Amino acid sequence: MKEPTMSHEKFDAIVVGAGPSGNAAALTMAKAGLKVLQIERGEYPGSKNVQGAILYADALEKLVPDFRDDAPLERHIIEQRMWVLDDNSFVGSHYRSDDYNKPPYNRYTIIRAQFDKWFSSKVREAGALVICETTVEELLMDGERCVGVRCDRIGGEVFADVVVLADGVNSVLARKAGLHGEIQAKNVALAVKEILFMPEEVIQQRFNVKEEEGVVIEMVGSVTEGMVGTGFLYTNKDSLTIGVGCLLSDFKANEKRTSPYALLEKLKKHPSIAPMLEGGEMKEYAAHLIPEGGLRAVPQLYGHGWLIVGDSAGFVNAVHREGSNLAMTSGRLAGETVAAAKAAGKAMTAQTLAAYKAALDASFVMKDLKKYKHLPEVLERSPHFFDTYPALVNRAAKTYFTVDGVDKTTKQREILGSFKAARRVTGLVGDAFKLWRAMR
Ligand SMILES: Cc1cc2nc3c(=O)[nH]c(=O)nc-3n(C[C@H](O)[C@H](O)[C@H](O)COP(=O)(O)OP(=O)(O)OC[C@H]3O[C@@H](n4cnc5c(N)ncnc54)[C@H](O)[C@@H]3O)c2cc1C
Repeated sequence: MKEPTMSHEKFDAIVVGAGPSGNAAALTMAKAGLKVLQIERGEYPGSKNVQGAILYADALEKLVPDFRDDAPLERHIIEQRMWVLDDNSFVGSHYRSDDYNKPPYNRYTIIRAQFDKWFSSKVREAGALVICETTVEELLMDGERCVGVRCDRIGGEVFADVVVLADGVNSVLARKAGLHGEIQAKNVALAVKEILFMPEEVIQQRFNVKEEEGVVIEMVGSVTEGMVGTGFLYTNKDSLTIGVGCLLSDFKANEKRTSPYALLEKLKKHPSIAPMLEGGEMKEYAAHLIPEGGLRAVPQLYGHGWLIVGDSAGFVNAVHREGSNLAMTSGRLAGETVAAAKAAGKAMTAQTLAAYKAALDASFVMKDLKKYKHLPEVLERSPHFFDTYPALVNRAAKTYFTVDGVDKTTKQREILGSFKAARRVTGLVGDAFKLWRAMR
């Protein structure tokens, strides 16, 4: 058991977890004058957190409007690359705009350990009590009503009118309390990433950017060996983040028993990627789950005395690689719901807290999850999007761009033939329809 003992005073709200969603909820409620206790199991906020990481300014701006003054930001993003890989090459599209070089910048790379610590300092400044190195072991229930939490400290029971669960993807607490089902392997991706350090000037030269400008590369194709997943490479100030993630169900079913680490090693050795990483010194390696089940995996989001936010609610948009902004937005909306109820003198019943779900439905969080609601099942049943098509696209590019005395009409016929041979016309039409339906 750890010291010191927990306080026996009652709080307006307890927030479990100090990631982006928990910090957003705690900050919103503390700013509204509520008595807030936030509990984080890590040594400090961010010490247990893993993220690529791209920070989306809009969501944070709504919480800390002047965050650019002192937040630990790495580079603002001016170029987005999308690469489709086979083993030796890639076909890519790049979008670079000088509009992204004009403040206020839209996206930044961040290092989560530093960022979460900074975000937590804002929560403390707003008046919340933040306790670290403390794990919430279970929710205290009075029938269907959540009345507080039990922590791993002496006298570790603390009571509050409402508990906000912001404990991340593997929400043990919600499952223990029966608020959440078991996590299904098809609804989570297992991602691994490394941070490789190198001088700032080297990054600037290799990525054709100036000081503080950054590049994002998202990748799909041979690197995941046919499993549903993607790779990514982000430029930080004096480091690069490289990672890869695939559905846990695919890792389990994978006959080759490829490990996430083996995929990352393969990605790092890809001939189009290795030169960008050369000389980088690896100082951080991490693995983490990402909730990618979309709308179908979103649990009940509120009840008597409790709310679920962020990853613990499954709020990730895997298509656009957005998670932290959904986390901050859901945390903010949960905080606003509680603060409004408190101001109106209402009890924190399910009926009162239903306003949180209504606010989420009206926001981009649920609208985007609804938009892509069919995507997870389409991708699960269509592994060829991750192996056959990337190989075909790269072969087509090679055929098209190689000058070898073969006339262009013959080349076009060859390319079309290779697609038909791999998927037949019915397969091609079916895949196009499935993709259109999933993305529309
Ligand atoms: C490899 C990877 C790359 C990613 N890249 C991006 C990206 O580029 N951009 C983006 O927007 N999103 C990205 N995401 C997703 C993003 O990280 C998450 O969506 C976001 O962190 C969710 O925030 P959260 O606060 O809900 O959960 P978390 O950040 O997981 O925070 C949960 C917190 O709760 C604490 N906790 C858990 N259980 C307990 C307990 N019982 N008691 C006390 N504390 C507890 C944890 O220690 C942790 O600090 C990425 C995720 C991964 C894994």
